[in-house]
Amino acid sequence: LRFYDPEMQALASSRAQLEADIRKALTRGEFVLYYQPIVDENRKITGVEALLRWLHPQRGVISPGDFISVAEQSDLILPLGAWVLEAACAQLVKWAAGAKTQELSIAVNVSTRQFRQPEFVDDVAALLKATGANPQKLKLELTESLLVHDVEDAVRKMQELRALGVRFSLDDFGTGYSSLSYLKRLPLSHLKIDQTFVRDVLLDPNDAAIARIIVNLAQSLDLGVVAEGVETEGQLVFLVRLGCKFFQGYLFGRPVPVDQLILD
Ligand code: C2E
Ligand code: MG
Ligand code: MG
Repeated sequence: LRFYDPEMQALASSRAQLEADIRKALTRGEFVLYYQPIVDENRKITGVEALLRWLHPQRGVISPGDFISVAEQSDLILPLGAWVLEAACAQLVKWAAGAKTQELSIAVNVSTRQFRQPEFVDDVAALLKATGANPQKLKLELTESLLVHDVEDAVRKMQELRALGVRFSLDDFGTGYSSLSYLKRLPLSHLKIDQTFVRDVLLDPNDAAIARIIVNLAQSLDLGVVAEGVETEGQLVFLVRLGCKFFQGYLFGRPVPVDQLILD
């Protein structure tokens, strides 16, 4: 029995086209990292998150929302993720030489598929060694989807990297499946409150309650907490009152190419 659905066919072929385009873009050097500040309560920059952009020769700047999921559904996320880690480490090495930049950390998003590779730990260790980047300044952002399968493997990998000095944040926290017992076992340094809760934190009592629970949870597990997507002074004041210590969002700076980062 066969089904023919023109819409599905179009979707499948546009996906194949996109995959081919991503592959080409990698060899042509069309990917670039933008950086968004992560600040403390005094609005002092403590680090950045590296956010991937595709500088498409015809379509201009393309955001990861338009291509990351396709890359994640194929093995393309592996070379792409490796490129991101390499570019971030190279940036850390450059920053290590500057008085204004040497304290900055870089947070890199790691997709679950990438993290699940048996070689992931060895690859990161080799990259740190080859580039000379300070592992203490590298943070890996993982999502809760990682915890759906084989938590033991995740814990072991994280511990191995943690032993090298690499730190971990749990991204988009509150949107996934975290079980509190797993959370306690993971060697995390930060939770990132998902921006969907921050957006309406002043309007929706449920979102405010979730933000408060995440901050309290982080405090009792002795983890740092970063609020994502902070856009207004009001949100900032509210989050500071909850006890949140780190902030990221348009209020402090959009993701920009490295030479446009404002560092003081
Ligand atoms: P994320 O890691 O949760 O990154 C935060 C997203 O929120 C970024 O979107 C950022 O531009 C956006 N954002 C920051 N501040 C604000 C704000 O104040 N308001 C609003 N409305 N949005 C804000 P972006 O750069 O489009 O990235 C989207 C997602 O793509 C990221 O979410 C991350 O999951 C993924 N991604 C980005 N770069 C990479 C990468 O190198 N590798 C992998 N695997 N995924 C990546
Ligand atoms: Mg992230
Ligand atoms: Mg996030």
